[in-house]
Amino acid sequence: MTAPANDIDEYRIRAREWLAKNLERRSGDRTRVPRGTTPEQVAAARIIQGKLFDAGYAGIALPHEYGGQGLTQAHERAFKQEASAYRSPNFGVIGNTTFGVCAQVILAHASEDFKRRHMPRILAGKELWVQFFSEPGAGSDLAGVTTRAVRDGDHWVLNGSKIWSSGAHHADYGMCLTRTNWDVAKHRGLTWFAVDAKKPGVTILPLRQINGGSEFCQEFFDDVLLSDEDVIGGIGDGWTAAQTMLMFERGGGRAEANAELGRQRPGRTLAPDLVELARRRGVEKDGRIRQAIALVHTNDFIQGQLGARIGAKMMRGRADAGMAAYLKLAAGTFGPLRACLGMEIAGAGAVAWRPGDAVAERTSNVYLNGRTTAIAGGTNEMQRNGIGERVLGLPREPRFDSDRPFTEVQRLAKEWSGRM
Ligand SMILES: Cc1cc2nc3c(=O)[nH]c(=O)nc-3n(C[C@H](O)[C@H](O)[C@H](O)COP(=O)(O)OP(=O)(O)OC[C@H]3O[C@@H](n4cnc5c(N)ncnc54)[C@H](O)[C@@H]3O)c2cc1C
Repeated sequence: MTAPANDIDEYRIRAREWLAKNLERRSGDRTRVPRGTTPEQVAAARIIQGKLFDAGYAGIALPHEYGGQGLTQAHERAFKQEASAYRSPNFGVIGNTTFGVCAQVILAHASEDFKRRHMPRILAGKELWVQFFSEPGAGSDLAGVTTRAVRDGDHWVLNGSKIWSSGAHHADYGMCLTRTNWDVAKHRGLTWFAVDAKKPGVTILPLRQINGGSEFCQEFFDDVLLSDEDVIGGIGDGWTAAQTMLMFERGGGRAEANAELGRQRPGRTLAPDLVELARRRGVEKDGRIRQAIALVHTNDFIQGQLGARIGAKMMRGRADAGMAAYLKLAAGTFGPLRACLGMEIAGAGAVAWRPGDAVAERTSNVYLNGRTTAIAGGTNEMQRNGIGERVLGLPREPRFDSDRPFTEVQRLAKEWSGRM
């Protein structure tokens, strides 16, 4: 559906007026320390999200029956452009998993009933969702999960453990990948369930991270009762929904925004955060530091242009997890490097600093968190495998477990001598 241009202009004017009355302007403050979000911040974000929802500015292009406004993508774009100057609800990491990943998988795979039940609550900030897929023994080998859901009369009984679930301590629901059939090949016996985080038998334990924060958690499920209403996608069809999830997790949902940035080709500023760091230390004329800033600037630019090209390709029909792997690999390669160079520029001041020096604290935290983009959502090695096999058509890695029932794979793994 397309909307007449004057419709969009009027909509934009109304949105602009609403934003000015209801939201705070962004301050451009670069001192936020990325150490996780507090319950108070999440509660405040829920209130702002509720305001947006009540005013009709959440789910603008989604159908009315899911709590949306049934308007066009052009309306949604116009609102986003106007809203970019204002502080959006700051849910921290759980905001991205709720709106950027879980809601997208629900829209693509859940039943009509499920969408009508959960989507309006998600849009209103009443349901925050996290991903329960990784396990202590199944990360890169995601199809190897052993958390099980067993049918028992009208119910399913969930047992097992998940780990590294970002934001789970703030969650209302987790989207949980389970094994429901052990007698078929590992990719075929999987099913996603919605798990209410407050249900009896669900234990969520925050994990302490190297930067002192606790942004992700481990969960234990002990005889948690689920029903058919909680299934997302078909029973045994979990791998299909997992591919959608990985595509969004790897940045595939930003394809349009990335492509748009590429079209505009903005004259990018020279790594402003690092220039500011160098100035604070008085080393902005040091040749070595200038080289580091130039390298970061070049990488930022390359990453932006790569994002634009991949975004454009995805919009032309190649929206899949293999294509999104390019975006994730770029983030996982340039991100850690940028964080290291930030430390070099900041020098000893980012190792030890006076209390209250938020810039130094932030620099050290970005460094400590730096490796996460090379791991979360699939490691750099797995992105390279995905690009090689799914995009370039290179020979697949040798696999001994894709055509055997999963029970047999487990038995063979236990008996394996370690010799190839
Ligand atoms: C910040 C952060 C947030 C996360 N958030 C979530 C979340 O919200 N929900 C969730 O479920 N999970 C989450 N994860 C978990 C993440 O998805 C896994 O850590 C990731 O998939 C890697 O799995 P693993 O840690 O088990 O490592 P492993 O799979 O054990 O990998 C160990 C090493 O072996 C390499 N390797 C493994 N297999 C291969 C192969 N076939 N070819 C080449 N190399 C290979 C890997 O690249 C890696 O270097 C998060 C992780 C991080 C760091």
